[in-house]
Amino acid sequence: MSKYIFITGGVVSSLGKGISGSSIGKLLQLHGFNVNMIKFDPYINVDPGTMNPYQHGEIFVTIDGAESDLDLGTYERFLDVYTSKANTNTAGDIYRTVINKERKGDYNGATVQVIPHITDEIKKRFAALKDKCDISIIEIGGTVGDIEGLPFIEAARQFQLENNKEDIFSIHVTLVPYIAGAHELKTKPTQHSVNKLREIGISPDMIICRTEYHLDDSLKKKISLFCNVKKENVIEALDVPSIYYIPKTLYNQKVDSLIIKKLNIKPKKKFDKTWFIKVESLNTFNRIVKIAVVGKYADLKDAYKSIDESLIIAASELKAKAQVRYLGAEDKELIKKLKNYDAILIPGGFGNRGIEGKIKAITYARENNIPFLGICLGMQCSVIEVARNLANLKNANSTEFDKTTKYPVIRILDAQKDVVYIGATMRLGNYKSEIKKNTLAYNLYKNTEIEERHRHRYEMNPEFINVLEKVGLKVSSYHKGILPEIVEIKSHPFFIGVQFHPEFASRLMKSHPLFKGFIKAALTK
Ligand code: GLN
Repeated sequence: MSKYIFITGGVVSSLGKGISGSSIGKLLQLHGFNVNMIKFDPYINVDPGTMNPYQHGEIFVTIDGAESDLDLGTYERFLDVYTSKANTNTAGDIYRTVINKERKGDYNGATVQVIPHITDEIKKRFAALKDKCDISIIEIGGTVGDIEGLPFIEAARQFQLENNKEDIFSIHVTLVPYIAGAHELKTKPTQHSVNKLREIGISPDMIICRTEYHLDDSLKKKISLFCNVKKENVIEALDVPSIYYIPKTLYNQKVDSLIIKKLNIKPKKKFDKTWFIKVESLNTFNRIVKIAVVGKYADLKDAYKSIDESLIIAASELKAKAQVRYLGAEDKELIKKLKNYDAILIPGGFGNRGIEGKIKAITYARENNIPFLGICLGMQCSVIEVARNLANLKNANSTEFDKTTKYPVIRILDAQKDVVYIGATMRLGNYKSEIKKNTLAYNLYKNTEIEERHRHRYEMNPEFINVLEKVGLKVSSYHKGILPEIVEIKSHPFFIGVQFHPEFASRLMKSHPLFKGFIKAALTK
């Protein structure tokens, strides 16, 4: 069985196509189907790895090392699957593949064109995971009408033509704006957007309408009539307190049954309601735990999306609600502000800006027994902090920030690079490490072997391990016995830094042990 659901967006961007897709995927999974999601981004960047988080939000890293869109994180948290390079595609990568083939002479002298060469490559990728799942959900990024998006929508049209009608379901996500002056919800933008889609040759089977107010019957009728979609397939997507409620709101409108019927498939098991029960539990808490995340992109929550979700999920398992606030590392009042929080997290990052503020925040956490979790750059800063303030290595630093530092406690390790890196200049994707017993790390993971996702160039310098361990910073986990992966301070109630990104491994149904331990420590502070 190979079925496809295409998701396009209209009117404006950021309507939550990824969340709609993940929610639909979740419902189908609860019916027993094996679901996979593939994202297509129409921009020319080969991947979002080089983009500023202000442009694109967090870079999500897959286990096989793809630097991808944050929607893949939503897929993983919702569906509890592992995505891979095949789940993330960009126009840049597709063009590059086609151009590389052209340079090799693979097109036998043909003129290489958007149709058919680019569209053929896109179609190949639509079907990439078909043997691994029952249903592929294909999300086309951007908004219908964008120039860059055209080859993708054209490829979707051709794909419909070349496959059975009953194998494909097309969903268009739009906005139904509320005009305050007229006290009215307006359907015209949706009509125009669907017209645009139909011009290219795609007639949606379902329209999901993002709206601030209830869509009454007459509005649904209007959208149905003008957009050529049955009224029951016009779906209302009201704003909800948490994205995890969306599967339920879609289920209440029978979205899953409508899709199952059109695709002519039979549920593989009795519908499993555990997800809905879990989501309800997000709202039952008896304590609030205040977490400060000290980073560079303090005013853009999406830059730390997976961290945010990991904290929320871990807190909910402990019957608490995580109140996560983002504090700018360069804020002059930072330390004063930190006094209002139960725990401090320093996330990953690149570049010099804000480093000294982060180090000060770590000194504050260390000296005042405040639970501290350092992720990637956050871990590296904790090594610098301990080197400077406990080991008296004056101006110790990472060579990322100070190339000539006398004490390069963090640096690129050329000697090890060839041994442990797979080609690229960054350590990307999953790497194993071994945890030492009698450590905080072992207490949290309850395991001596772990595998976590990486995205960094610099490492803790092994030459300084001895001197730092003497002042209390224990390396509790190594990759292949060489590269430090976790550091901790034994005499502190919870001080841990990890060279990897645990936030990418949280699932709604199962929090990550590091985040759970961190929140637990914050609650008992
Ligand atoms: N900039 C650091 C490095 O490249 C940390 C990267 C990160 O936090 N993801 O090693």
